[in-house]
Amino acid sequence: MERTLSLIKPDAVRKNAIGAIISMLEAGGLKVVGAKLVRLSRAQAEGFYAVHRERPFFSSLCEFMSSGPIVAMVLEGEGAIAKNREIMGVTDSKKAAPGTIRARFGTSIEQNAVHGSDAPETARTEIAYFFAPYELFGLGW
Ligand code: GDP
Repeated sequence: MERTLSLIKPDAVRKNAIGAIISMLEAGGLKVVGAKLVRLSRAQAEGFYAVHRERPFFSSLCEFMSSGPIVAMVLEGEGAIAKNREIMGVTDSKKAAPGTIRARFGTSIEQNAVHGSDAPETARTEIAYFFAPYELFGLGW
């Protein structure tokens, strides 16, 4: 069993696509074990994306990510990190395979509807950025 952080970004929340996106994740075998609707401050977005702070798109990305509410979720399942990224599609929405979340709801390389952790260590850090242990519910509840 593995856990990963999933974010529904402001563009997809604006499109009223929260339900459709969660349905695609659940249909792929992932289980929502934590969920909340939050709006990041600019500083919180910068903290979350700190690894990208030297990239040319950092400022624009943080502006976008703090532009409206997002849904933060923890997904659980076998190989959840890779599975989530498969259901999401590649970073650039225009290059994402048909049937993926980003192909369906993203519009560009930046406004790409969802975030998903890329490795076990980042998943742990990213989950802790949004959730306290008492906000997560594993299979045992
Ligand atoms: P991810 O793991 O697929 O989300 O991609 P990255 O970790 O490489 O990038 C983080 C986020 O930054 C992406 O999801 C996009 O929202 C944004 N991003 C990535 N590359 C670019 C880019 O070249 N230009 C812009 N404007 N945004 C980008």
